[in-house]
Amino acid sequence: MSAPIKYVYEFAEGSRDMADLLGGKGAGLAEMTRLGLPVPPGFTVTTEACKVYLATGEEPPEFGVEAARALAGLERVMGRTLAAPEDPLLVSVRSGARFSMPGMMETILDIGLNDDSVTGLAKASGQERFAWDSYRRLVQMFGRTVMGVDGDLFEEAIAAHKARRHVKGDHDLDTGELVLITEEFKDIIRRETGEDFPQDPAEQLSRAIRAVFDSWNGERARVYRHREHIPEDLGTAVNVQAMVFGNLGQDSGTGVAFTRDPATGETGVYGDYLPDAQGEDVVAGVRDALPLSELKTLDPRAYVELGDHLRTLEGHYRDLCDVEFTVERGRLWILQTRVGKRTADAAFRIAHDLRDDGTISADEALIRVDGAELTRLMFPRFDTTPADVPLAHGVPASPGAAVGAVVFDSAEAERRAATGEHVVLVRRETTPDDLPGMIAAEAVLTSRGGKTSHAAVVARGMGKVCVCGAEALAVDLTARRFTTESGVVVNEGDTVSVDGTAGTVHLGELPLTASHVGRALETGTSTGPVTEAVLGALAHADSVRRLEVRANADTPEDAARARALGAQGIGLCRTEHMFLGERRALVEAMILARDDAAREEALAALLPLQREDFTGILTAMDGLPVTIRLLDPPLHEFLPDRTELAVRLASTAQPDPHDRELLRAVERMHEQNPMLGLRGVRLCLAVPGLMAMQVRAVAEAVTARLHDGGHPRAEIMIPLVGTVEELRLARSETERVLAEVATETGTPLDLPIGTMIELPRAALTAGRIAEAADFFSFGTNDLTQTTWGLSRDDAEASFFPLYLEKGVFGVSPFESIDQEGVGRLVELAVEAGLAVNPGLETGVCGEHGGDPDSIHFFHRAGLDYVSCSPFRIPAARLEAGRAAV
Ligand code: ADP
Ligand code: MG
Ligand code: MG
Repeated sequence: MSAPIKYVYEFAEGSRDMADLLGGKGAGLAEMTRLGLPVPPGFTVTTEACKVYLATGEEPPEFGVEAARALAGLERVMGRTLAAPEDPLLVSVRSGARFSMPGMMETILDIGLNDDSVTGLAKASGQERFAWDSYRRLVQMFGRTVMGVDGDLFEEAIAAHKARRHVKGDHDLDTGELVLITEEFKDIIRRETGEDFPQDPAEQLSRAIRAVFDSWNGERARVYRHREHIPEDLGTAVNVQAMVFGNLGQDSGTGVAFTRDPATGETGVYGDYLPDAQGEDVVAGVRDALPLSELKTLDPRAYVELGDHLRTLEGHYRDLCDVEFTVERGRLWILQTRVGKRTADAAFRIAHDLRDDGTISADEALIRVDGAELTRLMFPRFDTTPADVPLAHGVPASPGAAVGAVVFDSAEAERRAATGEHVVLVRRETTPDDLPGMIAAEAVLTSRGGKTSHAAVVARGMGKVCVCGAEALAVDLTARRFTTESGVVVNEGDTVSVDGTAGTVHLGELPLTASHVGRALETGTSTGPVTEAVLGALAHADSVRRLEVRANADTPEDAARARALGAQGIGLCRTEHMFLGERRALVEAMILARDDAAREEALAALLPLQREDFTGILTAMDGLPVTIRLLDPPLHEFLPDRTELAVRLASTAQPDPHDRELLRAVERMHEQNPMLGLRGVRLCLAVPGLMAMQVRAVAEAVTARLHDGGHPRAEIMIPLVGTVEELRLARSETERVLAEVATETGTPLDLPIGTMIELPRAALTAGRIAEAADFFSFGTNDLTQTTWGLSRDDAEASFFPLYLEKGVFGVSPFESIDQEGVGRLVELAVEAGLAVNPGLETGVCGEHGGDPDSIHFFHRAGLDYVSCSPFRIPAARLEAGRAAV
């Protein structure tokens, strides 16, 4: 027989391990009670009771008896009775969910006051004004949160009284006035609800508990949960706790305290204190709080005692804690504790310090920080104040802070940048044609698209600041200006500040602070406590991680930067970016070639250029693997746009014969679904000369490096393979060219040849494909598109917002790998591949390679490495380490 479910726990019965049931606040109160800290006694109604209530509209049947018993127990301990006419017990009814949702749900103070007990409280405390002020607060709070009266009505009534008395603050209202206000509040409630403010304390208590339950489904709480990815079905616990009073005079007060500075992580007690006040006054900012150190002079005993408790808590939780406390006539009470929220700087510093003094292990210190925090630390930041209202909000697609003049096209961006001007490229959305402008710009701002739109992916790859999908901006490319929702017009040349971390755009130049961490990571030397902490965490991550971290990089500069940031090679070197710019003409000539001779001529011109590309990258990555992917996108991406070309031809009397030829080629190569068309390995097989040229360029670059005494480790990667037959054909052509070059130069070449796994068929037949592959590299971007059957660029702009809102997925599958579907294919392919070819090397080169959750998944799936944009490498190293401990 299982024990009957219990819905009510006295504080002394709970513990910190019971946060699911008691909520974070309840578990904290229980733990502090166990530790012997001065916590006003009380009990917790469980989240289970809340769930039953929310599902059925009634508390579970056992609840009434349990709650009555707990209340009787509390009255016995306190030696007072709820709402008794002499010296009444008052309680607070406090929300408290599993995850902290500060201020999102309701808390009702001073339950137990009514027309009789208010006199009792006045007598017992010796303060009539205090008693009536408390009663006034209860009627107001109860009226608003429990009985649903519009809170403005109460505020207006108070304001009218103050105006009549010519006073400013609530503090200036005397007892007589407060009695009148309380009566008026009761009238308001009667008028608005047709009901009287309940005088019966049992009714007050049970309705307050229900109101807290109901606040779980309040608008504010829902929005907060959605943003923080907190599940909808957890429910909240309710804490019923004896009231203590910080508003009994100058020997009383209330405050918050931290065991360390939550902004910087520095050791030492931090916080605020407000004399003669209740907790909610601090939050409401009624008066300016004093620094906590003032308490030392105001009440030295309470200050010392608080310090002791803070040390006890930090020692017990072995982490930064914060507390809410109240001093009632010189007596200290702790009302709440939790492991405190902190900035990214503080997170690293605190973990490092606690590890240093032996409080926690190196592994635990690593768990206490994460990749997202590290990324935040790497970028320069704006010093904003709440007064800096943004022009618009968009998707924070690539973090960092940038300031520059607005430009609306690539050419203008390049022109201005060439003169040393900083520019921000503003587009509705970007295409590969905008690449030069993106390179020239400090930041990219678009009005369409999500976190994985072209602008976002490319900007992240380059470590450029990007805010995309700022839909409130009306971008007018012809007039060369954009307009905000509030009607502000920003013209080309105007200065804006783009905050890629917050996803906001501001007019004018905001002040910047540089990132010490970014520099320290590149140089490996620390310049202060935070950089020392970051380097320490990374060193430990590197010592425990199993996953290698490589970079996606296409240029020697990116390769060098990635290497400085800790890359252990290049997992994806794309060759398509090498075909842009002035080389486009050569590619065009190759595509338009009428015969073999003309094609060979064009290819021969491309060969030395490609060889230099590869030599540069192999030099930057000397001694480390460089995985070079053969040309992947459909060839017509290198030709002009069909419509543009047709319009140009139609609008001139004497069309250029070259243009006409070009249009024919464009039409010949036009595809309805180019991403499912002639690309990847299909291109290798259909245009063999192109592939041979690329392989030869790699082979010659390797040979040249060997001759120079280098240690080149090039690997050749065939994209978009669906069946082993394709790979076999591509492989034998690759081997033929390698052998040819080896014979010519007399230098033997033994390069690993592998494939991308980015089609479901490839994953499902991975056992066959592994027969012809030395390595697998999971192209999880395409694998996600092809597995879900959706186009990333289109889907993100159209139905993704709806899907996220409806909870079809919690996060875009392009941002974090869909473990159940796409991830399953990865697992299957790794397993099948290794079974056939135990020496098979496996890695991931999609955007997911830099995503923390995905990295943990790839670690579990047994991959050898992840590869990501250079600036994500430190975070990837950290997360790979965290996955391993
Ligand atoms: P939140 O979760 O929004 O912080 P709390 O339940 O902590 O809400 O309550 C808000 C404030 O009410 C607290 O900061 C505390 O100062 C005050 N408060 C709550 N319970 C009591 C109590 N039993 N005695 C005195 N003050 C209380
Ligand atoms: Mg609180
Ligand atoms: Mg791909």
